[in-house]
Amino acid sequence: MIAPGGLYVVATPIGNLGDMSRRALAVLAQVDIIACEDTRSTRVLLDHYGIQTPTLALHDHNELAQTGPLLARLRSGDAVALVSDAGTPLISDPGYRLVAAARNAGLAVHPIPGACAAIAALSAAGLASDRFCFEGFLPPKPAARRARLAQLAGEPRTLILYESSHRIVDTLADLVAAFGAARPAVLARELTKRFETFLGPDLAGIAASLAADRDQRRGEFVLVIAGNPDPDAAALALGRRIHAALAGELSPSRAARIAAEISGASRRALYAGRDGSADADADADRVAET
Ligand code: SAM
Repeated sequence: MIAPGGLYVVATPIGNLGDMSRRALAVLAQVDIIACEDTRSTRVLLDHYGIQTPTLALHDHNELAQTGPLLARLRSGDAVALVSDAGTPLISDPGYRLVAAARNAGLAVHPIPGACAAIAALSAAGLASDRFCFEGFLPPKPAARRARLAQLAGEPRTLILYESSHRIVDTLADLVAAFGAARPAVLARELTKRFETFLGPDLAGIAASLAADRDQRRGEFVLVIAGNPDPDAAALALGRRIHAALAGELSPSRAARIAAEISGASRRALYAGRDGSADADADADRVAET
């Protein structure tokens, strides 16, 4: 028996059915019920493999309501599988609340690993992979997206983002503005599918390729972006922007204090940089001591 009672978090392919693991198929065939992000798309996958296990919907809008009944089933000894439309559940997909609730209740939770677009992109991008951070989707509204990018510009680890075809061009323009055109980056498109493409070698190169070829703007995307090799400089640049925005409202020393707190840059450097003068440096010494 591959699937005794417990919750099985089952990865499914991100485009190529050949990536469905034998263990995932066995678990899906043996569990009592499969909780799916979208029952219709999962049914297509199950039908392909002749799996008749019943399904129920578990998505962002009903996850809270479904968690109680699913926990009751798990407590009674049932085996429950959790799948999303593609890839690994919980990775920019529903399931976190159910998994957390099952763990908090002391119930068994088993990962059945497989495809994940973020890891597939990182594994083939050729950018540093020893330390990375996954940011999922950026906020859809431009102001919030730019604010998030300003926070991320100094991140020293490789950054992984998901993006949709509707926003890929705008997001790249914002990335160029926030991170600089020369930041090494790779855009992984349509991974494991017929039109799989990798574009690079930096943000400017990717933006130019998308501008030149409409077809490159179609499909699903993962952006892998090199970390900032000089995070102190990035923090200072962010701090200067915040300081400049606050300068009209607050005293220079107060503006420097707040800008330093938000950006992580040195308060002294921000205060000294307000007009770059020797007097400013001397003032900064006094401010730094307060
Ligand atoms: N849980 C999934 C995983 O493990 O990758 C991600 C789900 S998220 C809702 C969907 C996003 O993942 C897409 O908008 C795209 O950014 C990325 N993605 C999924 N499949 C992809 C593929 N075949 N190629 C490139 N990106 C993909």
